[in-house]
Amino acid sequence: MPKAKMTGKKRDNKKNHGSKWIRPEKRLAIYLRDGMCCAYCGATVESSKEPLSLDHLLPASKGGGNHEGNLITCCLKCNRRRGDMDLDSWLSQELGDKKETVAKFIVKHTAKDLKPFKVEAKAIRARRRTKK
Ligand SMILES: [Zn+2]
Repeated sequence: MPKAKMTGKKRDNKKNHGSKWIRPEKRLAIYLRDGMCCAYCGATVESSKEPLSLDHLLPASKGGGNHEGNLITCCLKCNRRRGDMDLDSWLSQELGDKKETVAKFIVKHTAKDLKPFKVEAKAIRARRRTKK
């Protein structure tokens, strides 16, 4: 059994994709795990004017949770465009032939252990804090 059992209370279970639903450290750890680029279109923080975001592979509205295995890095543009579309249809629509490659990328990355990335994220955030 996973240690953090889902709390019965629905806190902030709105569809609003604000930034409060996930700890900043975990968010950054997932960005790092996925190579800081959009899993769907490949945009990076530098190449895209859109900030990175986290996409629920199984949309939250369809019962998808906030654990790292259900989250993938993508740019805000792709995130908005996908909305609540199911992953398979979205990949087909967006990527056509490249769908398989991206699907594999997603499987590979979501299977990774997040622990080392959390350590890295923590270090980055600590460095940022001391810079101020
Ligand atoms: Zn994108």
